[in-house]
Amino acid sequence: MKLPPFTMHRPTSTSAAIELLVELGDDGVIYNGGTELLLVMKLGLADYDHLVDIKRIPGLDAITVDGNVLRIGAAATHRSIETNKAIGRGWPSLVMMTRQVANVRVRNVGTLGGNLAFGDPASDPATFLLALGASIEVRSVGGLLREVPVGEFHVGAYQTALDPAELVESIVVPPLAPTTVVVHERIRFHERPAVTVTVAADADEGQMRDAKIAVGSVGPVPIRVAEAETALVGAEVDSVAAAATEAAAAVEAVVEPTDDMHGSVEYKRHLAGVLVGRAVEQCLGEALKSGVSR
Ligand SMILES: Cc1cc2nc3c(=O)[nH]c(=O)nc-3n(C[C@H](O)[C@H](O)[C@H](O)COP(=O)(O)OP(=O)(O)OC[C@H]3O[C@@H](n4cnc5c(N)ncnc54)[C@H](O)[C@@H]3O)c2cc1C
Repeated sequence: MKLPPFTMHRPTSTSAAIELLVELGDDGVIYNGGTELLLVMKLGLADYDHLVDIKRIPGLDAITVDGNVLRIGAAATHRSIETNKAIGRGWPSLVMMTRQVANVRVRNVGTLGGNLAFGDPASDPATFLLALGASIEVRSVGGLLREVPVGEFHVGAYQTALDPAELVESIVVPPLAPTTVVVHERIRFHERPAVTVTVAADADEGQMRDAKIAVGSVGPVPIRVAEAETALVGAEVDSVAAAATEAAAAVEAVVEPTDDMHGSVEYKRHLAGVLVGRAVEQCLGEALKSGVSR
């Protein structure tokens, strides 16, 4: 595996990066951490003469909290998210999920922006951020900024809502209520996850009030499963197991797995149900416990 020759460009602003992308057309591509891009180029699956390195754009790796809203710059590495103190305080489940991504070598270099923009169906953050109602800020030609909900960003396997001369600028994560419990479950047989599940739930006075369930890595894009979410509302401590069984069955009925190296359609459907059941039991168990935990 040998990398073909290319020219590296190092713009110092997002607008300069976009101008370069417009100018280069099909010959140019964004280079962030490079963990996916260089791999597909080495494998001969993609061929670009020009790479536009966005890692050094000042501020693009910034992680900020403004009025309880978390904003993660597209060039922030998984490792910087995992070790960020403000995220640890306000979004500890994001830290726990990020720790499960790849290995520390990849997390040191790979970015959240690159993970989402690549659109690999096997993604932990895409599933997690969908359950949390996060959105993606996209910078376009002429300096325009648009916000795309994570649920509308992935439109197919390796396909996103990005136009060719657009870039992901940041990921916006809403605040988590102190009563929200988030559990991320996943299973992998090779390097990437075969199934990813995130459950976010809120309880009040011993009853489940609100639940979000996202399932990813089984099919082309992560999905929310409304039928499974409904099954959790109103659950109490003694009905957690029944709610988990119902949610798992709802997920198995809805997911449309892809048959690939991670497993057959039937096997992935079964795994999705098992992981949802497990995540729901843990999440509801914690949410319904007295006291607050996230
Ligand atoms: C061994 C291995 C194991 C892995 N395991 C997991 C795992 O368990 N779970 C998981 O979720 N992921 C996993 N991954 C994926 C990993 O998270 C991604 O490789 C990484 O986050 C990609 O980020 P990057 O900055 O390196 O992207 P790059 O390789 O730089 O870019 C990827 C693609 O996105 C485009 N791009 C990058 N940034 C932007 C932007 N800001 N705007 C628009 N387009 C952009 C690039 O043009 C390119 O097409 C694994 C990867 C490897 C190599």
